[in-house]
Amino acid sequence: MNIILFGAPGAGKGTQAEKLIEHLKLPHLSTGNIFRENIKANTPLGLKVKSIMDQGKLVPDETVVELVADELNHQIYDDGVIFDGFPRTVAQAEALDTYLQSRGKNVDAFITLSVPEEELIRRILSRGQGRSDDTREGIQTRLNVYHEETAPVLNHYNAKGIVKVIDGTGSIDEIFGRILQSLS
Ligand code: ADP
Repeated sequence: MNIILFGAPGAGKGTQAEKLIEHLKLPHLSTGNIFRENIKANTPLGLKVKSIMDQGKLVPDETVVELVADELNHQIYDDGVIFDGFPRTVAQAEALDTYLQSRGKNVDAFITLSVPEEELIRRILSRGQGRSDDTREGIQTRLNVYHEETAPVLNHYNAKGIVKVIDGTGSIDEIFGRILQSLS
């Protein structure tokens, strides 16, 4: 089963992805996590994406698509995967669809976590992970980028009839319960 966890920055994708991977025994593919690991390890990819991420902008599609295609070639993803933070543009979604279709696969579910904007900002500012893009300016840029470039991905999958809109407010377990219900 190939699942996309979607939502604005701060919507709780990472938290719910952790719970979902444990429940469904599927691997997790978070492009944000992969980029942060590369930055930490000072790899060429990390050096390339650091300033883009710090500004809250998107890493170029070409770079992201190449990274994901390489990653998906690993056997662990053969039975399905939970995508978190990807696809973030319609071009990335189209590239993913093409990649999966060429292997006789599809995106099976698109779960979008819906959270009011004030709550998103409050959550990011209070998560205190010390992420270098979690400044007021960085958050505002990420929210703008989300509305302009990422939100259209929802329409792309809506047309395929696989979108599940989940209320992303309440306790972590309440939200997780709603996700499981939407999948059953
Ligand atoms: P958040 O959901 O809080 O924005 P992520 O970890 O998903 O956190 O992403 C952090 C940053 O990593 C993004 O602002 C962007 O710069 C970069 N990034 C992650 N995934 C992608 C992607 N699919 N396309 C482009 N940039 C990405």
